[in-house]
Amino acid sequence: MSIPPPVPTPVSPAVVGRLAPSPTGLMHLGNARTALLAWLSARSQGGRILLRIEDIDTPRVAPGGTRALQEDLAALGLICDEMDAGSPCLQSQRRHLYDDALTALARQQQTFLCSCSRADLMRAPSAPHAADEGPRYPGTCRDKAWPQVLQEAKQAGKSAAVRFRGGQNVRFVDGLLGEHEQLVDDFVLRRADGLHAYQLAVVVDDGLMGVTEVVRGDDLLSSTGRQVALARCLGFAPPAHIHVPLVLSPAGERLAKRNRPPTVRDVFARGVAAETLIGAMAASAGLCPPGTRTTANELVADFAWTKVRRTPVVIDPITLQSYQA
Ligand code: GLU
Repeated sequence: MSIPPPVPTPVSPAVVGRLAPSPTGLMHLGNARTALLAWLSARSQGGRILLRIEDIDTPRVAPGGTRALQEDLAALGLICDEMDAGSPCLQSQRRHLYDDALTALARQQQTFLCSCSRADLMRAPSAPHAADEGPRYPGTCRDKAWPQVLQEAKQAGKSAAVRFRGGQNVRFVDGLLGEHEQLVDDFVLRRADGLHAYQLAVVVDDGLMGVTEVVRGDDLLSSTGRQVALARCLGFAPPAHIHVPLVLSPAGERLAKRNRPPTVRDVFARGVAAETLIGAMAASAGLCPPGTRTTANELVADFAWTKVRRTPVVIDPITLQSYQA
């Protein structure tokens, strides 16, 4: 009797996570807590974590914002694997890659031109989208020939936007929030002002950088179906997604940069040590008892998503105590 050959143990491809902050303002406690969880997830699986600065929306980039983000991440001990010999990956330097992706999508007839202004869309009788996303696109230009759309845009004294041809139903399983099904809309890939949209840039970059795991705030859950559909069209394996609940202010509001929420720098400026802040953020996620002083590195060994709270928390910016929202 011959001995059967050993069954090879499947080797899971190495985890590649990423931090993808936008330098539109200083890092607040919510951004920092999500970055900590993304970093811990990748490191605890022996994976790599890449830093990509999402400065694609140039008019919103804060002067010195990129450097401030890098300094804050370093102060928190969230050290990333450098992509290009020490220089961060900047979306603003990757526009040619987004153009290539637009060309590939156009060849597949996955795009169409659109001359609608925001005011046109506001007037259209359709249900509004989630608060930040504006009205749902009613399909006005979907079936028009592109010369007609260009002509209409020219008459209105502007350029046409490029939209993704949506309509697909996408299912994905979120690592914390479970199974989701989303109907993909005709979202914008390149704006009328010529800037590439976040949805396009994020998918192209995650794909080309070999990102296998996306950990981010659950305000981006509603974008995930679009991004999975886009990744598939571009021939990228969609990454695993884990959306973490947001940190809320004591008044119960989401921490958004426009509301000037407490930043990592505000906390450090009061003389709080990085170990205290890391401990407070980890405690707010359920990873250690309140009052623990620790470092990101020390948290790696015991990190598990099963321990992470699935509900929004409030972190008091002064005491750094947290409680369920
Ligand atoms: N740049 C985005 C932000 O700072 C995150 C994008 C993403 O994680 O997909 O909110």
